[in-house]
Amino acid sequence: MSNENLPLKPGLYVTATPIGNLGDMTYRAVEVMKSADLILCEDTRQTAKLCAAYDIRTSRTAYQDHNAARVRPEILDRLTNGAAICLVSDAGTPLIADPGFKLVREAREAGIDVFPVPGPSALIAALSASGAPSDRFTFGGFAPAKAGARQKFLEEFASAQGVLIFYETGNRLGDSLAAMAEALGERDAIIARELTKIHETFHRGALTALAAEYANAPPKGEIVVLVFPKTATAVGDVEIDEFLASALTNLSVKEAAAAAAEKLGVPRRLAYERALSLRKKS
Ligand code: SAM
Repeated sequence: MSNENLPLKPGLYVTATPIGNLGDMTYRAVEVMKSADLILCEDTRQTAKLCAAYDIRTSRTAYQDHNAARVRPEILDRLTNGAAICLVSDAGTPLIADPGFKLVREAREAGIDVFPVPGPSALIAALSASGAPSDRFTFGGFAPAKAGARQKFLEEFASAQGVLIFYETGNRLGDSLAAMAEALGERDAIIARELTKIHETFHRGALTALAAEYANAPPKGEIVVLVFPKTATAVGDVEIDEFLASALTNLSVKEAAAAAAEKLGVPRRLAYERALSLRKKS
């Protein structure tokens, strides 16, 4: 049988690998990894397991944050001289919250062919099976770990349309969900965990309820958070101000803002700023 993929043309092959279930390796990914001159790995030990499973004997070398700047010129040199080089990450699609961006950019700038070898990615796996509206979404990657930077980062997503998708770790999940409730207002979210693995789960709830649930019980495994869009019936400024004006007759600015956030599902900071300006005017 003739194979249109082989022999490999020279170039950089950005190759997706499974996010848990080894069976999700694509036929083409195996062919490319077997036929390339070199495989660039995030962690060579991790990729060794995949190669053992598919009898891939191509030589491998690390390409990760700590050595990327140093080895990139050499890799680009080999590519310019006609090598076929495969880039993989530990799991999923390279460059998606993983190394590789500068290599791809510089390869393109140098006129080298860059080929996608598509396959699994946790954000797409999560969205496709979640039941959340899938027509429009924004991917935020990992939120910063420090509280102040995380709040600022999340606030930038408050007015985005469609589902918001974040990567998160189990021990930060509770804090992160609480910060989302504050920055984005109360919304539903889905915690998609251990996708394609034995303990795969999808768990839906309101952000504040999920935050409370996970605060003292950090889940194990890998996690994608999907946050639903603001509902079509989202409240307008007039309604927020009416609520706040009434609340401010017997509550402090902070308390009125908290009440508005809970009752109307608006971001707490927004409610606080509006309450403050109402109080100043009164
Ligand atoms: N490049 C990968 C991709 O295409 O999805 C993502 C790499 S990023 C360093 C790793 C994060 O992806 C994990 O912390 C988790 O948030 C998410 N992730 C990866 N595999 C997952 C899985 N099987 N189930 C849920 N989330 C997963």
